[in-house]
Amino acid sequence: MRTASFLAFIVLLATVSFAQGPIHEQLSIDATDAPRNIIHSVVTIPVAPGPTTLVYPKWIPGNHRPTGPIQNLTGIHVKAAGQEIPWQRDLEDMYAFHLQVPAGVKELQVAFDTITYYEKRSLSSTKVLDLVWNQEVLYPQGIGIDDVQITASVRLPEGWKFGTALDVAHQSGNTVEFAPVTLNRLVDSPLIAGLYYRQVQLTPPGEKPVHVIDMVAESPDELEITDKDLASYKQLVAETGKLFGARHYEKYHFLLTLSDETAHHGLEHHESSDNGAAEDMFENPNSHNLEADLLPHEFTHSWNGKYRRPAGLVHLNYQQPMHGDLLWVYEGMTDYWGNILAARTGLRSPEQFRENLAYTAAMLDHRAGRTWRPLQDTATSVQILFAAAPEWQNWRRSADYYPEGYLIWLEVDSIIRRQTAGKKSLDDFCRLFEGGQSGPPKVVTYNFDDVVSALNQVTPYDWAKLLRDRLDSKSPHAPVGGIENDGWKVIYNDKKNVTMEAAEKVGDSLDLSFSLGIIVTKKGEVRDVIPGMPAYAGGLAPGMTIVAVNGRKYSKDVMRAELHLAMQNQKPIALLCENADYYSTYNVDYHGGEKYPHLVRDQAKPDVLSTVVKPLAAGQ
Ligand SMILES: [Zn+2]
Repeated sequence: MRTASFLAFIVLLATVSFAQGPIHEQLSIDATDAPRNIIHSVVTIPVAPGPTTLVYPKWIPGNHRPTGPIQNLTGIHVKAAGQEIPWQRDLEDMYAFHLQVPAGVKELQVAFDTITYYEKRSLSSTKVLDLVWNQEVLYPQGIGIDDVQITASVRLPEGWKFGTALDVAHQSGNTVEFAPVTLNRLVDSPLIAGLYYRQVQLTPPGEKPVHVIDMVAESPDELEITDKDLASYKQLVAETGKLFGARHYEKYHFLLTLSDETAHHGLEHHESSDNGAAEDMFENPNSHNLEADLLPHEFTHSWNGKYRRPAGLVHLNYQQPMHGDLLWVYEGMTDYWGNILAARTGLRSPEQFRENLAYTAAMLDHRAGRTWRPLQDTATSVQILFAAAPEWQNWRRSADYYPEGYLIWLEVDSIIRRQTAGKKSLDDFCRLFEGGQSGPPKVVTYNFDDVVSALNQVTPYDWAKLLRDRLDSKSPHAPVGGIENDGWKVIYNDKKNVTMEAAEKVGDSLDLSFSLGIIVTKKGEVRDVIPGMPAYAGGLAPGMTIVAVNGRKYSKDVMRAELHLAMQNQKPIALLCENADYYSTYNVDYHGGEKYPHLVRDQAKPDVLSTVVKPLAAGQ
């Protein structure tokens, strides 16, 4: 299997590299209209006379999906020596534009606008911009992304500053030109900009590679990182040094946009990560708790995802489909490290770490869809999962390869520790598999057998069977072996879970997944219902709105009070619901009160979990 996939890769490489030689594009971006959520670009593309096809990036690294926002590409005008050239979109491939290059013409100027709304949120606001280069470029079909050199420049709104891993060639006023890079490197190096900007250093002076956080925000107050957080992020750099033993970049920029106007997200790159978080991340303890693993997660990807990458996620250009089948490693193990490193660096307290893990295990243990859809299929079907509506998510399953990957890698860690009497752990696997030689960005591919082989080098075990069992299982229960091997158990009681409470305070949902089996907004809108749980048995469905609980107008407090009262009697809880234009009362026979998950110690076993989150580097 290893040889076959490697050969396929070489054959494809050969086919494409014969298509066209290296070219050099000029990309000039006018981002001064970012506050109006539109960007203006001109790209100059070398061409030969005759029929030519230009393409817009479709399969986006890190998204693992065909999410290039082609619908946002507007105002297209193609010119050669000042003359307009007609273009035609391909009848099947919406990302391809066909045109005829006249005799004597050596380059085309393509002017276009891109609308910055992306998956419902904008990438810009009146004060900030997240400039994602793959949305601002066209290139000839068939050429490899390492065969396109680009000299990019950007004009920013007056007074805005920026952060990026790209090298600046020169700057004049608010126009910046970057040193030429390949299209691959350009797309891997986003830029954030804003009226309010701050850079903080994480590496001691004179030490290499340099690590910085570049921040932009909606107001200057939000840039006030606390001393404790600054110490944690410095610790994060030190921890990854100890964990991986090598770095595959020459500098690293944490790009952090603190805005509630733009999308909250994270996207990994070799030498930077593009992080969008809540405006109050540094000052609101609940936002802080929920966002604590964001930077650790995206940073981990520099090793796990960018340097070591599943062969099916390496592409020669952005039009080539990707395979998501190993995302339980790419994302699942990164989810594990994001959470473990958040704890090792003090970004989360030990209690916050355990409450988060308890919630993750409980959520997955109440995923009804796991009886029809094995975890493997959630990874394989990444191309369609994110486009799904939130309704019936529990039955459909979501990108569960993230949180369930976390549980599986915790179990793998616990087995390594048990087999080696505590001498080795998943840390050793990471050093072996993701470490290697320090140097500039590069990609080393792997497949399933490579993962198994590296695990066997750490300690012999039937890893292939364990992993396939976990990935192909249709058990109704989540794999909590790691938690249990490490001396803890998941229990439920009426005490609120810290992670769920933070989510309730920051968001607008009341999560009653583990009691009624329902998630409701503060307005009573039913977000999801869990098949097999009481609300489902009573007839509720996502999309309904709960208007009244036992005859009283719905609020979160009323719902909680009635749940409590129902513990004292035998009467079902009557939920008056609006379902489009219809009203019905649904009787839910439930008397267990509120229930939330927690981890408690299993005194029969040693507490290994607390060892797992101990920092490796000195200084904490
Ligand atoms: Zn990720």
